[in-house]
Amino acid sequence: MLSNRCFNCFSKCQIKSPLKRWLCNTWNITSLDIPGNNKSNNYTRLRQRRNYSFIHDTSYVSYGSDIQTDVALFEMFKNKDTGLLSIGNFLSAVKGTGLRKNDPRLQNMMDNLKRVSRRNPDGSAVDTEKLTLEQFRSIVQSSVGLLSYAFRNQFIIPEFQEFSKNIEEIYWKCKENTNGKVASYIPQLKRMSPDYWGVSIVTIDGQRFSLGDVNIPFTIQSCSKPLSYGIALDLLGADVVHTYVGQEPSGRNFNELILDHNKKPHNPMINAGAIIICSLLKTMYSPEMSSAEKFDFTMNFFERLAGNEDLGFNNAVFLSERECADRNYALGFYMKEHKCFPQHTKFGECMDFYFQCCSLEANCDLVSVMAATLANGGICPISEEKVLKPESVRDVLSLMHSCGMYDYSGQFAFKVGLPAKSGVSGAMLVVVPNVMGMCLYSPPLDALGNSCRGVQFCEELVKKFNFHRYDNLKHASNKTDPRKHKFETKGLNIVNLLFSAASGDLTSLRRHKLSGMDLTLADYDGRTALHLAASEGHLDCVEFLLTHCRVPYDVCDRWGRTPLDEAKIHGHKVIAEMIELWQEKNAKEPED
Ligand code: GLN
Repeated sequence: MLSNRCFNCFSKCQIKSPLKRWLCNTWNITSLDIPGNNKSNNYTRLRQRRNYSFIHDTSYVSYGSDIQTDVALFEMFKNKDTGLLSIGNFLSAVKGTGLRKNDPRLQNMMDNLKRVSRRNPDGSAVDTEKLTLEQFRSIVQSSVGLLSYAFRNQFIIPEFQEFSKNIEEIYWKCKENTNGKVASYIPQLKRMSPDYWGVSIVTIDGQRFSLGDVNIPFTIQSCSKPLSYGIALDLLGADVVHTYVGQEPSGRNFNELILDHNKKPHNPMINAGAIIICSLLKTMYSPEMSSAEKFDFTMNFFERLAGNEDLGFNNAVFLSERECADRNYALGFYMKEHKCFPQHTKFGECMDFYFQCCSLEANCDLVSVMAATLANGGICPISEEKVLKPESVRDVLSLMHSCGMYDYSGQFAFKVGLPAKSGVSGAMLVVVPNVMGMCLYSPPLDALGNSCRGVQFCEELVKKFNFHRYDNLKHASNKTDPRKHKFETKGLNIVNLLFSAASGDLTSLRRHKLSGMDLTLADYDGRTALHLAASEGHLDCVEFLLTHCRVPYDVCDRWGRTPLDEAKIHGHKVIAEMIELWQEKNAKEPED
């Protein structure tokens, strides 16, 4: 075993040339430099000629086929010169994938990082900290699966920053829209600023993007309807729920005094249906619970949908709602007359429960997590908790799609093609199934009671992206599919790989390796990444491809040229020597 010393002089020596550094860093020289080895070879000649020194670098860890993700990540982000990883750079790369520092799935890692910086005597901020491989490994241990997923571009929206930029453009466009009027039937809503405009997005992988007034609290109002309906489906089953409420759009106002031909409310997204859903939750599931207990229970369910974030309750809104509820009471009595309620319903308590659900307070960020839980089949992407059954969520989305936007539902389904629910506070909960959830918040409402900016945002969104339910994903016309990796097809994969090699983009090559791509792929002319890196003179890429990826060094392109020929033809001597040495080493040690 060699010490960390120069092999020739057994003292510390300067490593200057890149080839020398490469040899020193990567080569197990014990197997090469056998004294008296009469197979005097290039390597020995080279050593004699340049008086190379070799250091066995113990920190080197090979990227084999059983690649260790934490090591690969470290390699991806470490500073080439210092061999250390800057936490600041690493965290901003994490952010670029759409993950947030406060994501509960990263909490352990963030706690570990804080511990490291606390140990730091100068108390410098965590972002300026530099880590060794060992430190990095112990810090990211618990989150390595998620991080590897993120950096392998395997999240549902791989190019998240680009996607966010597009969202931002739409956001600013809609900001200019000053149409609509803020709801004024109760003073608490009337007071809300018409200028508030917030957009929050959470993907099913927990990638997040928020813009504008995303922390302003608002009461969720009718956005509670799909959630209560989902809970009722989960607890009581669809058969029970739909003996009391239908699945048809009413074609009338959300608070219209009207029932369907079976004398049931048309659907759970309008007031009549939602009041019935509240009565089912109160009287048919654990009826022994007091009103207070049932409120806590339901609020807790809502919070779980929001990744265990704390919801608020606006008592002033609740009291106002109750006071200005002639229409809702009228609806209730009308339904009572037609025996719409389950047995043992306590009418007053049930109405209060409905007003309480409308008066729950949240913000854009929080509601977007709820929407993402619906997009993700009932599993909250942030807490990873299975909150609702996928069948319940499917039913919720179906009715949001056909009935969620009041009397605009038909047009919305036609133009936007996404399940959504709006509320009088100006909030809109929108779901792109299997992709992401959104909350749009802007108080001014159109004549039908939907947020003007919210509706415009959705229309602009589906103009740009193929999110409409009936957009064809394969033959999409002029729309972008952000779900697709830019280089998803094999052909594009190769182009991208070769481009990275030709331009000397080592980080991108590492990314390809990390994503499990076959780095030996060749283009139509039989040119491989190694050919390109060798001919363009990118030593570090050649090194990476040979030693880490172990791509074959002697492949011929269609003109019969190997990567070694390329290096020689283009005058990259050091690279040519490197390939020759590698060739020799591998010829000698085929088991390597
Ligand atoms: N609190 C409102 C009501 O019951 C909720 C309706 C809505 O948001 N559209 O009338």
